[in-house]
Amino acid sequence: MNTKNRDKLIVFDTTLRDGEQSAGASLTSQDKFRIAGQLQKLNVDVIEAGFAASSPGDFSAVRKIALEIEGPTICTLARAVKSDIDAAIECVKDGLKPRIHTFLSVSDIHLLHQMKKDRESIMLMAVDAVKRAKEFVEDIEFSPMDASRSDPEYLYIMLEKAIDAGATTVNIPDTVGYSNPKEFGNLISGVFKNVSNINKAIVSVHCHNDLGMAVANSLSSLENGARQIEGCVNGLGERAGNAALEEVIMAVKTRPDHYGISSDINTEEIGATSRLISNIFGFPIQYNKAITGQNAFRHSSGIHQDAYLKERTTFEIMHPDEVGWRGDAIVLTKVSGRAGLKSRLEYLGYKIDDEELIEIFKNFKNLADQKKEITDQDLEALMSEFHRELDTTERFKVVDLDVICGNKQNPSSTITLELPNGKTKTSTKTGTGPVDAVCNSIDSIINENITLTEFAVSSVTEGIDALGEVTIRIEKEGTIYTGQGSDTDIIVASAKAYVNAINRYLIIQSSN
Ligand SMILES: [Zn+2]
Repeated sequence: MNTKNRDKLIVFDTTLRDGEQSAGASLTSQDKFRIAGQLQKLNVDVIEAGFAASSPGDFSAVRKIALEIEGPTICTLARAVKSDIDAAIECVKDGLKPRIHTFLSVSDIHLLHQMKKDRESIMLMAVDAVKRAKEFVEDIEFSPMDASRSDPEYLYIMLEKAIDAGATTVNIPDTVGYSNPKEFGNLISGVFKNVSNINKAIVSVHCHNDLGMAVANSLSSLENGARQIEGCVNGLGERAGNAALEEVIMAVKTRPDHYGISSDINTEEIGATSRLISNIFGFPIQYNKAITGQNAFRHSSGIHQDAYLKERTTFEIMHPDEVGWRGDAIVLTKVSGRAGLKSRLEYLGYKIDDEELIEIFKNFKNLADQKKEITDQDLEALMSEFHRELDTTERFKVVDLDVICGNKQNPSSTITLELPNGKTKTSTKTGTGPVDAVCNSIDSIINENITLTEFAVSSVTEGIDALGEVTIRIEKEGTIYTGQGSDTDIIVASAKAYVNAINRYLIIQSSN
């Protein structure tokens, strides 16, 4: 192992790969690039950008990130088969700092039911895959899938062979979230004791959260010598998700006395990263979520408040600024000027040019006419709406909407959409409610035969004039696509969200 890494936590973010495998998630290549840019600001060590062999869309998104995102190592996943490895090589070999991550199952339960192969042939596949990738890319990670349920003796031999074949990182996954901190820590310490060449590689872990122990298992592995932690911001990922990276990072930062390691993470970017990812994926953050929940730094009991006001550290172990927590500050109003808006947006981490500022300022003024106080939350919603518009130019767009509803009449909606060819089309339809009527009128123009599977409204801030944010999921041929829209009128927000979901389906479909 590289000695300079002994006291350093290597943060491996897999939001764009495992995170995208969350049920109900679907990202466009613009989404992926935007998230990668934010992960670069957060200064993660490794970004797993996707699965090169899974689709042409994923391939080109990973390639663009590998070529353009400077700083972090950019990794792509590949099964231990030649076609996947070759796609991975092709995808990242010209990148700035490429890594290939290859994996295959090692537990008997997977070998028997999933792979239908014996231990010897699996061992050969692993070695071949690592060797093949190593011919083109120096930085190779190997993962024996379902390691926590495999025979440790077999696991040790496989890791040894993978390192001999050229693996520079070996990753021990708790693929199904079955382990617990004590057992998993023992497994990692067993790896150090029994794999003779382990000092030539970094030991990594990838823990799933099926029993709510992904972060605890990851921290236990650090206590036992692992130095790379894989996970996702907000704990996204397959099923119950992966270890929430922000929790691992802040545990290590807050308790140097216990862990004795540090990270290169710009922790002030945690808040912005968490909100961007929540927004793009359309998965809200639970209010009491550690580190990033909106209640994470709010003190409500009188005794706590009193002590906190006398001395902050009585009830606060981290400073909210340390993690870029947004708080509740009201910043702008109707009379705020363009310069004020620009400087607040820059503070929130948005880089905008003068041309964009003109458009954003117009949207800001419209919002400020309807809403007295514009908070940072509102500005983030405004920017999300702006980016959605930007990403879907030359797609469908809501131009006008009229809705009639109430308890005495049949809801009906008249909508005018701008079509990809620049022309407009208007349609009037009824429905069981106003949102249904809106969706029916949109369907009659777009004609895509999709099913709406989920509809959720939330308010960006508190108060009766709050911006409403609508998240819609649609299903088309077995795949789920997410769309979002925000407006002070939730029916308008719903129309935008529905059209956004259809646009995203069309964009993703055309890239694959
Ligand atoms: Zn996983």
